[in-house]
Amino acid sequence: MMSRTKKEIKIGGISIGGSAPIAVQSMTNTKTADIKKTVSQIKRLERLGCEIIRVAVPDFASANALPEIKRRINIPLIADIHFDYRLAIKSIENGADKIRINPGNIGDKKRLFKVLDAAKKFKVPIRLGVNSGSIEKSILKRYKHPTPAALVESVLKSLKLFESRDFTDIVISVKSSNVLDTIKAYELLDKKVRYPLHIGITEAGTRFTGAVRSSTGLGILLFKGIGDTLRVSLAGNPEWEIITAYQILRSLGLRSGGVKMIVCPTCGRTDIPVEKIASKIERLTRYLKGPIKIAVMGCVVNGPGEARDADIGIAGSKDRAVIFKKGKIFKTIKTKNIINSFVKEIERYIREESK
Ligand code: SF4
Repeated sequence: MMSRTKKEIKIGGISIGGSAPIAVQSMTNTKTADIKKTVSQIKRLERLGCEIIRVAVPDFASANALPEIKRRINIPLIADIHFDYRLAIKSIENGADKIRINPGNIGDKKRLFKVLDAAKKFKVPIRLGVNSGSIEKSILKRYKHPTPAALVESVLKSLKLFESRDFTDIVISVKSSNVLDTIKAYELLDKKVRYPLHIGITEAGTRFTGAVRSSTGLGILLFKGIGDTLRVSLAGNPEWEIITAYQILRSLGLRSGGVKMIVCPTCGRTDIPVEKIASKIERLTRYLKGPIKIAVMGCVVNGPGEARDADIGIAGSKDRAVIFKKGKIFKTIKTKNIINSFVKEIERYIREESK
């Protein structure tokens, strides 16, 4: 895997770029002005390992909620601004750790410079984010379509404006909902800038399709050493964005820890409801710090051997199930108690390992 070589930018207490680990971020889908709901969603995301959180700031009520939200959470808070430069300035003044703007919809140069000056004064970094839907009009006209080259040209033009104002505390993104275009755009951009890159597939889809499309696009980019922070964009509960992001990073060996599930694909020998049991175990162990490998296997004859790599696993027959550690059976239980007994054993295993 290729290494990353970008400038290090500080978002609150988290570093992006340099030699920092790839930071996992998400975005709330509550009304930001509803402080209680927003904070409670952020807290759930924090528990899953979210390291940076972005909230939409579509109005002044949202901008004015930022100080209280920030006071109640433990991770850096990013304000996402579209169209109204005054909301960007207000968010900066109200303590946002970073703002995200799309210069294409912020308006003329004078307004953009006002935002840059405020960000500089308060030492707040900015994500300069261009999507395929917001390429500068003159560039789009020339390219006719929102191609990867058009996306990159648009972002580089904005970047020049930032730098002309002596503003370099920047993270960049060029997202498209087309996976191949996103990959090409980031490859082009990566060669041209030294700023850290925020990667993601925008409007990726629902929990399943979005996870597949994000894993494909982000996996390829990360394997090439491109990307310093990522957001998996999924419609619905953002907790799935964090779960998916860590699955991608751990699959590529870019983050360690957590729970790795080894689940047999099931076959004609399967004697227990493998998928149901594995999903339940996955849900119950979601917050474990790990690292731990847990196996759920469909038959006693082959299961323990096939999953000998697992720290702890279960394999079942109709009436009896066996719990095994590193491929060796150490306990037999009744299949009807399979989930409760197995979760207890997992917890015991973790307690013993952490002694
Ligand atoms: S563990 Fe047993 S049930 Fe599962 S795939 Fe292998 S042989 Fe089939």
